[in-house]
Amino acid sequence: MNLECRKFDALVIGAGGGGLRAALQLSQADASVAVVSKVFPTRSHTVAAQGGMNAALANVSPDNWHWHMYDTVKGSDYLGDQDAIEYMCRAASHLVIELEHQGVPFSRLDNGKIYQRPFGGQSQNFGGAQAARTCAAADRTGHAILHTLYQQNIQARTHFFDEYFAIDLLMDKDGFVLGALVLRIETGELLIIEAKTTLLATGGVGRLFRTNTNARINTGDGMAMVLRAGIPLQDMEFFQFHPTGIAGKGMLITEGVRGEGGYLLNGDGERFMERYAPNAKDLASRDVVSRAIAVEVREGRGCGPDKDHVMLKLDHLGSEIIKKRLPGIRDTCITFLHIDPVEQPIPVFPTAHYTMGGIPTNRYGQVVVPVKQSPEEPIPGLYAVGECACVSVHGANRLGGNSLLDIVVFGRAAGNHIIEFLRENRYHRPMQNAQDSIDRALARLARWEQRREGETVDELRKELQKTMEFYCGVFRTRDVLEQGVKKMLEIEQRVAQATLRDHSQVFNTARIEALELENLVDTGLATVVSALAREESRGAHSREDFPERDDQRWLKHSLYYQEQNRLDYKPVRIKPLTVESFPPKPRVY
Ligand SMILES: Cc1cc2nc3c(=O)[nH]c(=O)nc-3n(C[C@H](O)[C@H](O)[C@H](O)COP(=O)(O)OP(=O)(O)OC[C@H]3O[C@@H](n4cnc5c(N)ncnc54)[C@H](O)[C@@H]3O)c2cc1C
Repeated sequence: MNLECRKFDALVIGAGGGGLRAALQLSQADASVAVVSKVFPTRSHTVAAQGGMNAALANVSPDNWHWHMYDTVKGSDYLGDQDAIEYMCRAASHLVIELEHQGVPFSRLDNGKIYQRPFGGQSQNFGGAQAARTCAAADRTGHAILHTLYQQNIQARTHFFDEYFAIDLLMDKDGFVLGALVLRIETGELLIIEAKTTLLATGGVGRLFRTNTNARINTGDGMAMVLRAGIPLQDMEFFQFHPTGIAGKGMLITEGVRGEGGYLLNGDGERFMERYAPNAKDLASRDVVSRAIAVEVREGRGCGPDKDHVMLKLDHLGSEIIKKRLPGIRDTCITFLHIDPVEQPIPVFPTAHYTMGGIPTNRYGQVVVPVKQSPEEPIPGLYAVGECACVSVHGANRLGGNSLLDIVVFGRAAGNHIIEFLRENRYHRPMQNAQDSIDRALARLARWEQRREGETVDELRKELQKTMEFYCGVFRTRDVLEQGVKKMLEIEQRVAQATLRDHSQVFNTARIEALELENLVDTGLATVVSALAREESRGAHSREDFPERDDQRWLKHSLYYQEQNRLDYKPVRIKPLTVESFPPKPRVY
């Protein structure tokens, strides 16, 4: 097949905050940059981020980056790499001010400074009083950041391929990544985008679970592309369940509600978080609050006729604060629950939210893999940032407000590193040497066109999501995980036999959903297989059969390879860049 080919210095797959921040750095340095996105850029999931972005600006409470670093290391349950965490927390204040100058309309304090709200896991002075570190534009911070970055990219003349779906990476025989095969959704045309560097910024995989806060597009495409290219995924067992999704529906109610003074009540009207986290209470780390809610419900202290959720009370904040600081939350409740939180509490339950694991990278965004004795060697020409990547700053549990920070910090860092790479790698490598990977990607597409009978994509996706929710949820045990792996392997087989519905009138969107389902299968298997192997409880990974954290055996990152569902491990980088490390200790809030 003769495919059209376009050439750029850099290809960025994904137009969320991570991809756009990297693209901006590159375009401003006069590199030619293509950004591919399966939806119009400002519809990327970053747009949905509500609560804000962390930086120790100290506008509301005393603060500094080192305290932020401590909180992030503790929040990660000591699985985060401390060099990357130091780098991120040090860069934070500068990047918030930079965003402000680029046009993000942050909310203001009376003295004109950027408004900051308290979020979970934030402390002053290494574990002392609650800090207020989350910079917010009301409860629409991601919307403000994404639109600003998009406009900046338009000004910098970044080239956008809107509504193009990336199918697979193209790699040559020497292991260099040369670009990607993409499909134009409107027409079904295929296109090769050839680039000296390719950056994946495809976001998380919240769609693995039935109840989740994520956009429909969060299907882990970039992560699955990497697996198919023979590269492992790191720490996939760590998936964050946000404590306050709307019960039964999953939409997010930001932690900012509790930051503003809202709190949780069980069916007996008790503020139960006081029992689980005597100091931080409702602002304990997310994994802690999610487990507390699940335990309350399991022990019969839930609310409602089925006692299957708890209540988030905020009416005592008064309508003025709610309308000024949490207008989006109020709209969501009125639209989906017909409840006005100015008057009534919100029914909530934990919901799948954030992928801590992902494509292993160093702090320059380079994708790195273990080679022989060395724990990391870069894959030439391949970068990853944002929720699809695992750098790892979030370790076993991400703190609220740290992801918007992660995407701009490492988006910029990757952009800078790519500029260096382009100086040394001035020519495109010959695409003929990547013919095998082109053929493999085309064969994936062709398989769906050939199968005429079988189960449908829709049925199988639903079954996969139920399986992941039931067998790999908030609480895990060996038995349940073993069944989960078995079920997922079965689903993998069935997807290989599945069909697009009616071949006489297949829409390209149906083809995309089929490819996305394959991506969910690949990342879902990575998640359950890694979860079954890790016999300890750390951060979001909570094993009832191994309730304690076990630093002796498990203070290490998992690496999952698709081939034979194989696992490997690599050490956590405990040593920061300039300061003393924070050695693991018991984690209490
Ligand atoms: C409801 C919600 C609220 C949140 N609130 C906060 C918050 O207050 N603070 C905070 O720090 N974090 C928050 N988070 C987390 C944070 O918003 C995300 O982790 C972050 O925005 C992810 O950015 P990203 O650039 O990595 O990816 P995304 O913004 O998810 O963008 C992914 C991009 O990849 C593209 N893409 C994916 N696959 C393909 C493909 N195959 N081909 C072409 N393009 C593709 C998509 O089109 C999209 O442009 C929230 C998350 C959710 C879901």
